[in-house]
Amino acid sequence: MADTESQDEVALAPPVAPLLERASAAWFAPLRDRLAALRSQGRMPHGLLLAGIRGAGQAEVGVWLAASVLCRGPAVGACGRCGDCRLFLAGNHPDFHWVSVLPDKKEISIEQMRRLSRALALRSYRGGAKVAVITPAEAMNAKAFNALLKTLEEPPAQTYLLLAANRIDRVPKTVLSRCMRLRLPVPEEHEAIAWLERGRKDPGWPVLLALAGGAPFLAAEYAESGLAGLDAEMQGAIEAALDGQLDIVGFAEVCARNSPAARLVWLESWLTRRLKDAALGSDLGSTYRLPCLRPPGAETKIRAAYGLLDQLREARLQLGGPLNALLLFEQLAVSLADLVGRPAPKAGKSSG
Ligand SMILES: [Zn+2]
Repeated sequence: MADTESQDEVALAPPVAPLLERASAAWFAPLRDRLAALRSQGRMPHGLLLAGIRGAGQAEVGVWLAASVLCRGPAVGACGRCGDCRLFLAGNHPDFHWVSVLPDKKEISIEQMRRLSRALALRSYRGGAKVAVITPAEAMNAKAFNALLKTLEEPPAQTYLLLAANRIDRVPKTVLSRCMRLRLPVPEEHEAIAWLERGRKDPGWPVLLALAGGAPFLAAEYAESGLAGLDAEMQGAIEAALDGQLDIVGFAEVCARNSPAARLVWLESWLTRRLKDAALGSDLGSTYRLPCLRPPGAETKIRAAYGLLDQLREARLQLGGPLNALLLFEQLAVSLADLVGRPAPKAGKSSG
């Protein structure tokens, strides 16, 4: 009826089976137990915020919880066999709602949230619970958050809103205060790597996992998007800088064009490790060889290294902002070359 309800406003839920498989990872066991206990004690909150770093599995655990709430089987968690589970696994459960950023959009809009509120206000199709997963929750714009707030303030019976958030600092306090908050753990490195290695070729998991901040699902995403080559490329740039041969403009162009955020993380993690090595006096003979952080002149170098670290963190905040990414990387490359390199021929100031 209303033309705002055209089909293209509905975000299609991804196939749920792979998400359920991820949520079954061993390191979620305590979290799954906790959620199962909340349900069995009848203390399941209407609003639940699943928070964690990107790729820690917020949406995965949300889908797992949705499946177990909708299941009519006797088991803890979803039985996978009852009518509700079969509908859920087929992506057809009428009481399950998936709200995410629509293709070619940047935010979750108020129209999407109004549509959800209307659906949740109706009687359950299957006579049981109604569940919505909103992911990533911080993608809601201000109006969408307000619409959500109304539903959270007066939730219909047996209605559960599961908010999967990577950035709770972007979720309004009014929403936070009406949700139970659960933090998603990231596994120990060896556990994450064991999980990543199952049935996959090894593209250099330790590096990708470090780039992903320890979040295994993000590391897997990085591998799929071909980010594995980035490590070799960045190491090559460091080697060139050490020899005073870094092509500042060329390097900045590559960085600005391909996965700039991941490159900043890579540089930050590389520099942090070097500083740690220098503090421990163990950088001699390091495969990354950074003799310049050792005496003589170590003091100045270490101060400069911390300066570059600040610059990298600042760049991470600026990325995506008005400042041109190319310029940002040119400035970083100049600092990097100064820090690690032998006096270089004054290559490419900024272009122009
Ligand atoms: Zn079931």
